[in-house]
Amino acid sequence: MLSDELAQLKVLATECADASTWTLSDATLVDCLDTIHQVVAAITAAQSHIVREIDGRGLAVAQHASSTAVWLREHLRISIHAAKRMLALAAALDQRPALDTALTTGAVNAEQAAVIAAAIAELPADLGPDLVDEAETVLIGQAGQFEPTILRKAGERILVHVAPEIADAADAAALRRMEEQAFEKRVFHLTRRGDGRVRLTGWLDEAGAAAVNAALDPLCAPRHDLYEPRTPGQRRADALVEVCGLATRTEQLPDSGGQRPHVVVTVPFDVLHQKLGIGMLDTGGRLSATQIRQLACDARLIPAVLGSNGQVLDVGRGRRLFTGAVRSALELRDRGCAFPGCDRPPRWCDGHHIRSWVDGWPTSLDNGVLLCGYHHRIIHRGHWIVRLGEDGLPEFVPPAYVDPRRRPRRNLYHLRT
Ligand SMILES: [Zn+2]
Ligand SMILES: [Zn+2]
Repeated sequence: MLSDELAQLKVLATECADASTWTLSDATLVDCLDTIHQVVAAITAAQSHIVREIDGRGLAVAQHASSTAVWLREHLRISIHAAKRMLALAAALDQRPALDTALTTGAVNAEQAAVIAAAIAELPADLGPDLVDEAETVLIGQAGQFEPTILRKAGERILVHVAPEIADAADAAALRRMEEQAFEKRVFHLTRRGDGRVRLTGWLDEAGAAAVNAALDPLCAPRHDLYEPRTPGQRRADALVEVCGLATRTEQLPDSGGQRPHVVVTVPFDVLHQKLGIGMLDTGGRLSATQIRQLACDARLIPAVLGSNGQVLDVGRGRRLFTGAVRSALELRDRGCAFPGCDRPPRWCDGHHIRSWVDGWPTSLDNGVLLCGYHHRIIHRGHWIVRLGEDGLPEFVPPAYVDPRRRPRRNLYHLRT
């Protein structure tokens, strides 16, 4: 009976564990390792047969466990992953007698058996049983040379060995299946964390990711500045925001509620003026006054300005935006982001009010300068100062920590061309 044999085996195994190893010659030591490896494989096969029987009888459910895997976890105190692997191997050996024999005789180990079973399960459903058997035989033979990772790769290409004439078609079908699944599982979330950060998570299929990459890649290159402080990850993040900014500046996005797409922020009048306090985005997020003043500089944000009693004030939306003739004149003059060393062309740029429209200054050529999103942000941080020089062209005064003498600089990049 199995239980008697296992009892003997337990005694023998305990003796093996107690035996000293330091007296053995090198060759014997390696022989012993090989033998133990084969014994473990055979024992794994025996364990699989028992697990299969337990599962087949529904013993776990009879004992009120939700599944055999859960029952194995509780009973053997193993992880759920180990329990599921054990069950999967048991099922595979039950279906594939040749694989069962290979494990029992130690021709394959448990890891290899799992890899071979997975490769066989991936074969096309309409492949004849002879070819499936042949694939199994080839892989069991290869298990004598290959560790599981290489064996898995061999398994992926096994159809080329046994049925080259249908391998290509099967490859194409598998790829189509994979693509459909990937597309089906596409998802994108923006989740506010409440600490000022918003988490992006999601999955795209290959084609979708290629479109995103194509849009972002040109924007991810380091700038022509002497000093590029951003990490590659930060550059990618900026690129995503820039692409969305570009999209909202075109006329081609669908309307939302009869208006061009925009961000609405509700902000008390004195917050906008004093550069203190916070505003609320229509998405529920919070923005500092500095950020609001930057976004309000051009079309990306519509501030619903509240008076001291909470009433909405009319702030003359139209005169705030650099559009039409003023925008064209700005583009002609600056030819792109005017910040020293920046190479962004006009379409990536906001019109920035040199003196804020919030404080009553006009939206005009004399009070405007083109800045890309990144440099617009820097200017609104207030360390660099932008002004128009004697000749009417923008110049930038660096902070003392960049240049102690604070000599004004200009963008030579656009003017060179
Ligand atoms: Zn601005
Ligand atoms: Zn720039």
